[in-house]
Amino acid sequence: MSRAGSVRHESSKKKEFERRLAYLNCRRSYALSVVLSIILPCMWLLNNSVKEPGVGFTAMIIVAETVELVSAVVLFYIVRSEQWIISTAYRMYYICTMALLITISVMDYRTAGSSMLYVITMGIAIFVPILTKKELKAYSGAMLIAVVAGCAGAADNGLRAVIDMAVIGITGIVAGRYSQEHFRNQERVKEELKEKTLCSEQDPLTGLTNRRGLSKKAGILWPFCIRTHSMAGIIAIDIDFFKKYNDKFGHPEGDECLKKIAAAIKGSARRQTDVVARTGGEEFLVFVQDMSKKDIIELALKIRGAVAELKLEHAYVEVSKYVTVSMGIAYTFPERGDSFEELYEEADQALYVAKENGRNCIVCDNCIYGRMKNGLGTAVSS
Ligand code: GH3
Ligand code: MG
Ligand code: MG
Repeated sequence: MSRAGSVRHESSKKKEFERRLAYLNCRRSYALSVVLSIILPCMWLLNNSVKEPGVGFTAMIIVAETVELVSAVVLFYIVRSEQWIISTAYRMYYICTMALLITISVMDYRTAGSSMLYVITMGIAIFVPILTKKELKAYSGAMLIAVVAGCAGAADNGLRAVIDMAVIGITGIVAGRYSQEHFRNQERVKEELKEKTLCSEQDPLTGLTNRRGLSKKAGILWPFCIRTHSMAGIIAIDIDFFKKYNDKFGHPEGDECLKKIAAAIKGSARRQTDVVARTGGEEFLVFVQDMSKKDIIELALKIRGAVAELKLEHAYVEVSKYVTVSMGIAYTFPERGDSFEELYEEADQALYVAKENGRNCIVCDNCIYGRMKNGLGTAVSS
C-alpha cells in the first residue's frame, strides 16, 4: 500500500473507531436519560418533604426533566437507527445534563437531596461518555469549577459540609479520569483483538481466507450441508508452471500475478457463502454449497475465463502464451461421518489428473472440461 493509501486507511480506521465510541456513548446516554427522568421527580419529592421547595428549584427540575425525557426519545432513535449516529448528540446531551444537575445541586445545597444529586452528578461524570483526550482535559477543568462552586454553596453549612463536597468532587474527578481512560483502552483492546483474529485468518498477500480461516468457515458450512442435505463442492486450483513464471519475471512480479489471479477467482465466486481461500503458494480453493455439478463446472469455467482475460504473459508457452490454471472438482451430498478434508483430497486428486492431462483444464468425475488453445478461444474438448 502506498504511503498516502496507508494514511487514508489509518484515518478511516480511526474514524470507524470514533464512530463505534459514539454509538456506545449514545447507548450509555440513553440509559442515563431514562434513569434521570425517574430520579429527578423523586428528588423533588424528597426535597418537598423536607421543606417548601423554591420556585427556581422547581423550575430547574422541570427544565431538567424535560431535557431528560426529550433526550431519552431522541437517543433511543439514534441508537435504533445506527446509520445516523452523531457524536454531537451525546455531547450536547452530556453537557446539558451536567450543567443542569450541577446547578440544581448547588441551588439547593441545604437539603440531603441536593448532596445526593451532587453524588449522582459526579457518578454520571464517571460513566458517560467515553471522552477523547482533549475532552478529558475540559472535563477535569469543568469538574474543578463544579467542586469549587459546590464547596462555596456548602460554606454556610460549615467546614464539615465543605470538606464533604470537596471529597466527593475530587473523588469524582479522579475516578472519572481513570474510568474514561479505562473504557477507551478497553475498546481499543477489543478493536485490536478483532483485527488480529481477522488477520490470522487472512492471507496477507491476496487478502483471501487462509487455511486457518478455511477450516473455521468449513467447520460451520460443512455441518450445515449435512443438516440441509445440500451438495458441497470444492474446486482446487493451481497455477500452471508458476515456478517458471517466477524464474523469468522474478518473485515480486510473481506476487503481483498471484494477487491478480486471486482477485479473478474471488470476482467469479460471488455468492455470500462461497469460500475462496489461498491454500498454498500458488494454490487456491473454492468451497461452494447447494449447487449442482453443472453449476460447479460452469463456475470453474467462469474462473478460467476470468484468468484468461487477465492475459498475463507467461514465461513458458508450451501450454499457453498467457498464465493459465488447472482445476480439480469434487462434490458430494455429505452425510454424518463424512469430512471436508476427504472431499478436499478428492478435488486435489482431480487436480492432479488435470495436470497429468496437459494442464489448463478442469477435471471433474474423470472428464476433462474446457481446454482452450493459447489460454483463450473456444473449448476443444469437453
Ligand atoms: P505445475 O504446473 O505443475 O503446478 O508447476 P508449478 O511450477 O506451478 O509448480 P511447483 O509446485 O513446481 O512450483 C510452485 C511455485 O510457486 C514455486 C514457488 O516459487 C512459487 N511460489 C509459491 N509461493 C509463492 C509466493 O508467495 N510468491 C511467489 N512469487 N511465488 C510463489
Ligand atoms: Mg502447486
Ligand atoms: Mg503450479
